[in-house]
Amino acid sequence: MPELPEVETMVGDLRASVKGRTIIDIWTDEKKLIHHPSFVFFKSGILNCKIKEINRRGKIIVISLSPKGFLLFHPKMTGHFLIMREINDDLLKAKSAHLVLSMDDKTFLIWTDQRKFSRIEYWPVEDSSEIDWLNGLGEEPLASDFSFPRFNELIGNKKRRIKPWLMDQSVIVGIGNIYASEILWSAKVNPEKIITQLSLEEKKRVFREMKRILKKAIIERGTSTIEFRDINDEKGRYASKLKVYGRQKEKCSRCQKKIERKIIGGRSTYYCPSCQP
Ligand SMILES: [Zn+2]
Repeated sequence: MPELPEVETMVGDLRASVKGRTIIDIWTDEKKLIHHPSFVFFKSGILNCKIKEINRRGKIIVISLSPKGFLLFHPKMTGHFLIMREINDDLLKAKSAHLVLSMDDKTFLIWTDQRKFSRIEYWPVEDSSEIDWLNGLGEEPLASDFSFPRFNELIGNKKRRIKPWLMDQSVIVGIGNIYASEILWSAKVNPEKIITQLSLEEKKRVFREMKRILKKAIIERGTSTIEFRDINDEKGRYASKLKVYGRQKEKCSRCQKKIERKIIGGRSTYYCPSCQP
């Protein structure tokens, strides 16, 4: 599932390829991916709109339209964009394409989603604060004003395990299963530890490694474990840099002991029992 670095990669690619373009045609074979409003309103609302800006909020891609409105995409499991100069039925099928936005420069912006769990919404409003979906999301971990004192205030003395807490989108956005495992390995914190058991030093390490790893993964254009591809259908480079995720039974690069896999909060969790006691 794409997390913050993958979504940020998509946003950067979209800015470079479709910012300033106008949507001149819309096709879909999967109307139910458009959750708000109906497909008819979605189609008539965005037709002939210009793409003004592309931003990210958590794992959601937010496209601002001109004269007004916002188009939101949440990749969930396997959603991502592709840009193409030519399309045909076979190609769309092969790429699991379910929405095609034709641009005024003869390119096609394609939303592909093999598993079809992604969510698309259109909001014909003036200001993004009016979008229900964006309300209730937590802090942006890479915001420059998101400092340790604020993190410390949020984490407090919760009686929750650290890994599910890090992945709670109502507290901090954008961290999912891959980066939570990586952050905790780097911070040398056991993913099952209850927050009340963490020292101030450990909390500081989690905060520091959270910022460092997310930034590094953005530079490497994200992690392509199975599905994620960038807009040009290329893989991200961070998968080779993963220290624990998907590496059970391999040797820990820090201590040479074996990495283990465990289900925590219903999710596969990878950690080194020796470095993360
Ligand atoms: Zn280790």
